[in-house]
Amino acid sequence: MTWNVRTRHQATLAQEQGVIQKDWGGRLSVALAFPNSYYVGMSSLALQILYRQFNAHADVVCERVFYDAESAAAGEPLLTLETSRHVSEADVWAFTISYEMDYFNVVAMLRQAGLPPLARDRDEGWPLLIAGGPGVTMNPEPMAPFFDAIIIGEGEEVLEDLIELFQQAINAPRAKLWADLAAIPGVYVPALTPPIQEQGSRPQRVPRLWVRDLRRYPPVSSIYAPETEFRGMHLMEIARGCGRGCRFCLAGYVYRPPREQPLQDLLAWAEAGLQHTSRLGLISAAVSDHTQIDELATSLQEMGASLSVSSMRVDPISVPLVRAMRASGAQTLTIAPEAGSRRLRDVIAKTQTEDQLLAAVELAAELDFSQIKFYFMVGHPTETQEDMEELVAFIHKARAIFKRRIAMNATPFVPKAHTPFQWMPMTPARVLKKRQRWLQRQVGRLRVAVRADSPSWAEIQGVLSRGDRRLAGVLLDMQEISVRHFWQVMQQHGLERDEFLGQLPVGRMMPWMIVESGVSNQFFRYEWRQAQRSRLGPHCPPDSAGCLSCGVCDEDWAFRFSDGKPVRRSRPIKLSDGQRR
Ligand code: SF4
Repeated sequence: MTWNVRTRHQATLAQEQGVIQKDWGGRLSVALAFPNSYYVGMSSLALQILYRQFNAHADVVCERVFYDAESAAAGEPLLTLETSRHVSEADVWAFTISYEMDYFNVVAMLRQAGLPPLARDRDEGWPLLIAGGPGVTMNPEPMAPFFDAIIIGEGEEVLEDLIELFQQAINAPRAKLWADLAAIPGVYVPALTPPIQEQGSRPQRVPRLWVRDLRRYPPVSSIYAPETEFRGMHLMEIARGCGRGCRFCLAGYVYRPPREQPLQDLLAWAEAGLQHTSRLGLISAAVSDHTQIDELATSLQEMGASLSVSSMRVDPISVPLVRAMRASGAQTLTIAPEAGSRRLRDVIAKTQTEDQLLAAVELAAELDFSQIKFYFMVGHPTETQEDMEELVAFIHKARAIFKRRIAMNATPFVPKAHTPFQWMPMTPARVLKKRQRWLQRQVGRLRVAVRADSPSWAEIQGVLSRGDRRLAGVLLDMQEISVRHFWQVMQQHGLERDEFLGQLPVGRMMPWMIVESGVSNQFFRYEWRQAQRSRLGPHCPPDSAGCLSCGVCDEDWAFRFSDGKPVRRSRPIKLSDGQRR
């Protein structure tokens, strides 16, 4: 069996550029895991940044591990990719987790590796298990019992402290290592931290880490591989975070404040990337919000790059970027209205107007894109049948302009921790299914393809994203990954749907508040009140200059460009209701 895995690994490695292989002797060994397939995992820039940062240390060897369901089902061992070592041989097993739905794969990998799944059952004879990434940053609690430590927020800066500690004390008694880890800001050690609901009035919370000087950690690909979602693309994170404040969006809050990479650095990284491939992928929560996006797109086009982007806003749209994408062969323009009516877009604070959206459709027609893809969500708080009808009316207008292929996603809204909608009920799956089917009927007549993600699985995502440590028991007791079985095991554990998916008491201490995200609950409550009145809220000013509104930016950061003298003071939100931006 090991032979089969080893052979597959060698075939994969043979196709890659940039692989780092080192002897394990005398080095700290790290098994860096992405709990999903190689195809998905290798498209994660976070994995590539971590791989390069660990291996930048001469006395550290870092090898990748991915989840292969077939291999696990066949009873094959879980081996690292580079040298096919069993993961249990590693000193540290580090997971980067992007999605709640990968929690099932984490548990499956622990089982496949033969490790006791719960941290309390492992001593220094077992690898130390750590995790990080957006999938555990905003609510680490469902996965907390599995890990010795969870990095809350952006790990680049704390990684150096961790490597230093591991080199000194990786074989120390586990309790001692836990204590040393818990002393590092931003490192959450669940074994030493009671759930927040069990802590008194002055709870011990873990501050979310964010990198102030992003230039120090080049956010670019380090391995080029054809068998991935982005097929050997050179990925570049051009900015981190988004200041737009869309109220449903986790990325808008997990990476606050918004920061961007300087144009010159991006062009230098692109030049280096173009030595390996002509295909460049620009990554950011809102690529077109980079303040120098037009210059960047034009320069990259002149450098001969073929461009792909992760997301595009249309308020305003970067015409040079869209032209550069089309000129380099892009066939699809992807736009995310998220909601069909102006009223609902104001509720979710997605500020694109219908005119701006239709102008983007006209641009796609003018540039002869072969497809437009719209991202919509269904089940937003306060959503009505009128909002759905306005969505269909919008598609009619788009169809009148754009004659070629139109596709749209109708993704269920899932309320997320540390967002203004964190207390909101999730629309029941049966209602979501009805709305999706109604949409399919309405726009199907316009030859518009609708991708309707499963509301039943979205409900499970909703439970995991607002769950607590009891869900670890549910994940452990699941014998098969199915919707029906999930709810069976929930029932066996005495857990009800509405405890996680119903209306949650606004202002109550919730499990995920073990994380101090930096955004004040006062700000979230204010944003929710504005949403109920279909009013927009504040968003981050350029460079976050002089803004203390949500609580994330401190004075040092907000006034860093103002030679120390505050140019404008804006204390945390006491905005008068009725303000409309
Ligand atoms: S304090 Fe202001 S600039 Fe900073 S993240 Fe919050 S809203 Fe944005």
